Amino acid sequence: MARRFNYRRLKIHFSYTIDEAARVLGAHKHTVRSWIEEGLPVVCRQRPILISGGVLRDFLSARRSRSKTSCGPGQLYCLSCRSPKTPAELMADYTPLTAKTGNLTGLCPDCDRFIHRVVSLAKIELVRGKLEVGFPQGLERIRQTTSTRSHCDLKKKA
Ligand SMILES: [Zn+2]
Repeated sequence: MARRFNYRRLKIHFSYTIDEAARVLGAHKHTVRSWIEEGLPVVCRQRPILISGGVLRDFLSARRSRSKTSCGPGQLYCLSCRSPKTPAELMADYTPLTAKTGNLTGLCPDCDRFIHRVVSLAKIELVRGKLEVGFPQGLERIRQTTSTRSHCDLKKKA
């Protein structure tokens, strides 16, 4: 179960270091780091890493609504319907957020609004289910290269 953090304490126009954000939220700094791993965007990758208060609020609020009803494979969360949905036409687009994570976007079959899911590129094969996922050009090439490489590694081990 995801712990609830009082993200309303964060000032929207203020940037926090990991330690500061952890202190304001009463979270462990490892927890804040794990959010960055999950795809929380940071202001600057150089040290000290800064997180915008507004971005962190949005991230935690989206995370909380996701934890209420978790999406199964091939499902994205519709904020309007407040439930996981399988996108119309079984189609979704991947938009990178960081090198390792991105946003899957599709259309809600019931309300025609955009539905989203933040996914890690490493887990996308598990998350996509039956969906046809469109990748930006270039990224698809990188992904294919990576999967070919891991395939070769597997072969070597066998
Ligand atoms: Zn909907």
